[in-house]
Amino acid sequence: MRDRPKSLAAFERAKRWIPGGVNSPARAFGAVGGTPPFIARGEGAYLWDIDGNCYIDYVGSWGPMILGHCHPRVVAALREALEKGTSFGAPTEAETRLAELIVETVPSVEKVRLVNSGTEAVMSALRLARGYTGRSKIVKFAGCYHGHVDSLLVAAGSSAATLGVPSSPGVPPAVAQDTLVLRYNDADEVREAFGRLGEQIAAVIVEPVAGNMGCVPGRQEFLQTLRDLTAQYGALLIFDEVMSGFRLALGGAQALYGITPDLTTLGKIIGGGLPVGAYGGRAEIMDHILPAGKVFQAGTLSGNPLATAAGIATLEVLRETDPFSTLERMSRRLAAGVRAAAEEAGVPCYIGRRGSMMTIFFTPHPVANWDSAAACDTAAFARFFHTMLDYGVYLPCSQFEAMFLSAAHSDEDIDAAIAAAREGFAEVQAAGGMS
Ligand SMILES: *Cc1c(COP(=O)(O)O)cnc(C)c1O
Repeated sequence: MRDRPKSLAAFERAKRWIPGGVNSPARAFGAVGGTPPFIARGEGAYLWDIDGNCYIDYVGSWGPMILGHCHPRVVAALREALEKGTSFGAPTEAETRLAELIVETVPSVEKVRLVNSGTEAVMSALRLARGYTGRSKIVKFAGCYHGHVDSLLVAAGSSAATLGVPSSPGVPPAVAQDTLVLRYNDADEVREAFGRLGEQIAAVIVEPVAGNMGCVPGRQEFLQTLRDLTAQYGALLIFDEVMSGFRLALGGAQALYGITPDLTTLGKIIGGGLPVGAYGGRAEIMDHILPAGKVFQAGTLSGNPLATAAGIATLEVLRETDPFSTLERMSRRLAAGVRAAAEEAGVPCYIGRRGSMMTIFFTPHPVANWDSAAACDTAAFARFFHTMLDYGVYLPCSQFEAMFLSAAHSDEDIDAAIAAAREGFAEVQAAGGMS
């Protein structure tokens, strides 16, 4: 492992004042060992750490940076907004503009409310679904992450399709008991659950392309079953597109699959690198939110001028440049190169991918749900990860996260990542291969 003395010292200092030294746990390298580089700045597809190392960034702040770092249009929009004041707690035209851009682009969204994070979007959408249906139970899928919402921090019970148990201290069992945790991509389990409890289910929430157990695309038939059953039983279907929204296509995963959810949660890209979330859907449902309706949800900094400016600039650039077919082409080339490198080294891997989201799973078997993802060789992944980092390729520091391409990545960046992957797989092989 390469030495990063300044980052090491910075991490030690951070740990004195911040729990674990980080403000979000995934950043701490807990899953791969070692200590994280501290970042000094980013530009385009690159990051520089405080030790002066440069990396090709395949994390993109875990999804938002689809245009790369410091895109000139985003920076200019931020500068302009900054001069005019950073928060008013009163309506602004920019909020309407961002809402309009989202409604024009995301098929299911007729009205949208802006919040400050993906977590907040999900929490609010769940409250709305429960307020609208007058029901309590929520269905989620093992391996999908929807932010740190109490009722969704649950694990599947002893047998699948049982009510959830808390997966974190501090989540009351009573809250977890209203959550059913089912297997991703398993339509039969969903049918069985609706047969038993359908009349009590307020909503099904799903990542249509999961990115939080590594990249695991939902199957068409699975997502269609969710649409059909929720409609049949009067429950709402919520697509959590905090990650996939404006990432897989301009209209998100729902545009790709041609399936229209009742509610959609957004975040990440729509803030252009600033903290934003949003939830939207059919006007008739959204009008249940205060002050149009009675479901309470509020936010002092919601629709913040800086976040809104960065979001508008990002969505406008995406609409003008439509980078999605280029991203797909580059992502396919990266996957093919990595797969060939793995085969050459005799390290059988499975690559989960949709558009510019991708995960190299250290398992020879296809990954379709959390059970198959969890069977990966995480020690082999950790070795691969650190070799990539040493060769200047910055990947997510966990087997169970997606890597992202941005419109700022070049073909040379892809070639460099493939060359580094050869070294990474050789390192895994030298350490005894996969277990
Ligand atoms: C990142 C993410 C969230 C949480 O968003 P935060 O802004 O981190 O609160 C929720 N759902 C999905 C699918 C995500 O990828």
